[in-house]
Order: sequence, then C-alpha cells, then structure tokens
Amino acid sequence: MEKIRIIDSKKHVGETVQIGAWIANKRSSGKIAFLQLRDGTAFFQGIVVKAEVSEEVFETAKSLNQETAVMITGEIREDSRSKFGFEIGVTDIEIVGESKDFPITPKEHGTEFLMDNRHLWLRSSKQHAVMQIRNAIIYASYDFFAENGFIKFDSPILSGNAAENTTELFETDYFGQPAFLSQSGQLYLEAGAMALGRVFDFGPVFRAEKSKTRRHLTEFWMMDAEYPFVTHDESLDLQEAYIKALIQGVLDNAAFALDALERDTDLLQKYIDTPFKRVSYDDAITLLQEHEADEDTDYEHLEHGDDFGSPHETWISNFYGVPTFIINYPASFKAFYMKPVPGNPERVLCADLLAPEGYGEIVGGSERETDYDVLRQKIIDFGLDPKDYEWYLDLRKFGSVPHAGFGLGLERMVTFVAGTEHIREAIPFPRLLNRIEP
Ligand code: ATP
Ligand code: MG
Repeated sequence: MEKIRIIDSKKHVGETVQIGAWIANKRSSGKIAFLQLRDGTAFFQGIVVKAEVSEEVFETAKSLNQETAVMITGEIREDSRSKFGFEIGVTDIEIVGESKDFPITPKEHGTEFLMDNRHLWLRSSKQHAVMQIRNAIIYASYDFFAENGFIKFDSPILSGNAAENTTELFETDYFGQPAFLSQSGQLYLEAGAMALGRVFDFGPVFRAEKSKTRRHLTEFWMMDAEYPFVTHDESLDLQEAYIKALIQGVLDNAAFALDALERDTDLLQKYIDTPFKRVSYDDAITLLQEHEADEDTDYEHLEHGDDFGSPHETWISNFYGVPTFIINYPASFKAFYMKPVPGNPERVLCADLLAPEGYGEIVGGSERETDYDVLRQKIIDFGLDPKDYEWYLDLRKFGSVPHAGFGLGLERMVTFVAGTEHIREAIPFPRLLNRIEP
C-alpha cells in the first residue's frame, strides 16, 4: 500500500493509502468518530464509521489523545464541504507514538505560555500557516534572484570589527580576541558585486535590539542584494519587482495558508497590481505636518531632520494604501556608506520601503559612496576607525563603480504577507530581548 502525504490527495482519490499523522482534535459519537488530523503538509479530516471497521479500530479511534501519532489506513475521498477538499475514510489505525496531556489545548492560552511551548505551538494551524508562508517567500526569493541573474554569495557571520552600528552588536570571544556577530552582510556583498556582478545573500543577522517592539527580533534572516553599474533609481525598480514577486509566490504556492489566516488576498493582489509610491523624506515630513491637526491622526509633530517613529510610518503608508518608498533621508541618521544626493550633502540616496497596514519598514537600501577620499572621511566623521575598513576602502581603489543594494528582513515580510500581529510568530524560534529559549 502506498504511503502518501495528504497534500498529494488529488492523485489518489478512490485509492486506499496510508498516511502518517498526528491527532489535532477529535469528536466521536456512538457510531462515528471524526478525527482532525495533521500530517505536516495540511490539516484534514479522518472519518471512522463504527459499522465499517473492526470493533478494535473503532475503540482505538475513540481513545486517541491530542497529538498521538498514528499511521492511518483508508480511502481518499473528495470532500466538497471542507476547505481542504479531501478526507480519508479510515479503515485502520496503528498507534505510532502515544501522547498524554498535551499542554496546548484548543482553549485560549496566554502569549508567554505559548512562547514557552514554542516547540509545540508550531504544530497549531495558525503557526503552520505562517511557516508555510515563510517558506513560500524564501523559495520565491531564490527564484527571483536566479531569474534576474544574481549569484548567491554568502557573507561571513563572524567579524573581527564592528561594521556599522556599534551599540547593537553582540560580542563573542574568538580565541582570546573580540569578535562580533554580523548585523548585515552588506559590506562583504559589495566585495562580491565587484567580483561576480549581481549578488545576493540570505542568512541570519544579529542585533542587540534593546527596545521591545512588535517589529524587532535580536536574530533575524536578511536577504541582501548588491549590484554594480546601477543607480539608486534603478535599484528601486528592482526592489519593487522583487517584493511583488514574493507576494505572488505566496499567492501561487501558499494560498491555503493565507486562507487559514483569513488574510485579505484582494489586498495582496492590489499591492502587486499597483505601482508602489515613491516619496522623498522631505515631502513626507511636509505631508505629516499638513495632516497633524486632522482629527484621525495622533502622531507627534516632526521637523525636517527628525526621524520617523512607527506612528508616522503607519500613517504615511496608510495614506497611500500601497507599499511606499521613502527616499533621500537625512545623512545624519543613515549609515556612513550611503552616497549623498548630488547637490545636497544633507540627504542621501537611499530608501526605506514601508509596508501598508502598519507593518512598518520591510526593506532598506541605498546607492553606495564610490569615492575613496569621501568614503574615508565619512568613516572618520562617523567616529569609526578607517583601519577597520581598509579592505572595504580597497573596493574604491581598484575600479570603483556606481553600485546599489538593499536588504529585506524576511520576518518583516512574513508578518506583512501573513497579516500577523507580532514578528515573533514569523520565525520558528524567535529570539527577543527577554527570550532565548526554547
Ligand atoms: P528599523 O528602523 O525598523 O530598526 P533598520 O533601519 O535598523 O530598521 P536596516 O538596517 O535597514 O533596518 O535593515 C534592513 C531590513 O532588516 C529592514 O528593512 C527590516 O526589514 C529588517 N530589520 C531590521 N532590524 C530588524 C530586527 N531587529 N528584526 C527583524 N527585522 C529587522
Ligand atoms: Mg534598527
């Protein structure tokens, strides 16, 4: 008999098959038992009719506890009443692994309890759906970069010096020397772009974020891309196409997960069909000022030169209703390597992409400074030591070219596409200010 996964049901309608699964829930009467099953690929129903199976099988069905692992034998049937569309008419049940007192019951649980049981919480239908969306985004990302001629180039995670923001660094001991966990692969990726052309990396990065927000993890996965001979405008076009491709990938390959989460897919489709908005930082500040007295706004007043808080970002992206690039931020609160706007050294050629619906910044990117002397001076002005950046400065000595790149926070993207409240649900085992277990 063939062992199948329920996700492949379509090919097996009418056949008797075996499926390894867990009991998510169960309901039974004297004559029939409904097993809510999950086999990792999907949640589905198994029906055990007393009159059609041996007494022993029916007793087993009635005795099954939540999360008991079973090998089910039965016939795959179409089930037009359920969302999933298929069910299994059970003829035999073999218990593979017992389960007693599974701590997460169908009743409501508090967040801390669920987080303490993250290793088990991952089995719930909502968490299952979010992980499926995460997976669809990862695959869509690889597809997009492959189709656009990008080579995967892996940046190191351990580094001997503090590249960007020294306050958010995790330090570790490297054979008696201090070493730091990577906050971004970008600087290394620039070296890659000069060697291989279009490059991307995808890996974990670490930031000692000391504030508790719904959008910050201390360990998250970043997709970074870097490409030579482009300006920032061209980079924005590519970023827009990339984000749309990721949303499309989820619509194509994880529609059932979006459905399980009751995500509004018309809205996601609209983000694909509508051009993203591009607004300069200064125009955004002016817009915020113009609307700050409106009845339905409650953000703080900002002057030109101030940084946005999350209420400002939320308001701006809701105002436009589509993902919005805020371009040309003040140089003072962006990284040292960004190239100034020609004729305006106070502003840099960069953009943050704000997701609509209050999901915050999902991408940060910029055109990089190409001039050796200017870059060296900026390193000094930012209070950094040019000695630590010798290799990076070399890239400006030997055939320096205009180049730009961007970084996407995978979990921010997952949160946005899945429509989940908090970023902690967008990664299997979240690391947060107060949590490094399980
Ligand atoms: P923020 O202002 O939200 O802290 P940032 O300006 O520090 O973001 P970048 O350094 O530009 O972010 O990093 C690139 C991308 O990485 C961001 O657009 C975001 O998607 C993601 N990101 C940044 N910090 C975090 C974090 N702590 N947890 C999860 N994702 C993050
Ligand atoms: Mg930050």
